[in-house]
Amino acid sequence: MQDEYLLRRAPAPSPYVPSRLVLKLPPTAIAATCEMLQRAGRREACVFWYGDRDGDVAMVRSARAPRQQSTPGNYHVEADAMREMVHDLPDGWKPLAQIHSHPGANTEHSRYDDAMISSRRILSLVFPAYGMQTAPWPQGIGVHEWQNDYWHMLAPRQVQDRLVMMPGPALDKRDFR
Ligand SMILES: [Zn+2]
Repeated sequence: MQDEYLLRRAPAPSPYVPSRLVLKLPPTAIAATCEMLQRAGRREACVFWYGDRDGDVAMVRSARAPRQQSTPGNYHVEADAMREMVHDLPDGWKPLAQIHSHPGANTEHSRYDDAMISSRRILSLVFPAYGMQTAPWPQGIGVHEWQNDYWHMLAPRQVQDRLVMMPGPALDKRDFR
């Protein structure tokens, strides 16, 4: 398997247009995500966020890590591991984001990431340094959204409008590894 950071992609064909969509994110979801990413050690890993959506506003209720293969420069999830992860998801909870870690500070999508994202209707977040928190949220996090045939990486100000940290209901945290 090739290290994904070798797979640079083409630049955005057009600028990202900010949407009205907001993802509300409890601080517990970030802590749980970092902890599950760090469990892979010096290897890449992935975590998924689920929750409910009401109009333009979605709230993260669950952070789940599927069974997966982790290597220093790559990760992979089989379809049956995805099914296992969601089989007991409460009714009405939807996929909201796919998160994975990168080795260093570069949190831009690779061509591998463009291909591996499970849905174009969710956000794709890349955490640096194998999930170690290197700066206050959301600095250093790569937030990507699909728009006009491209996974746009949002500018810092766009990230602050799109992801709003606020306390929420108790988080459902599950690790299937
Ligand atoms: Zn990646």
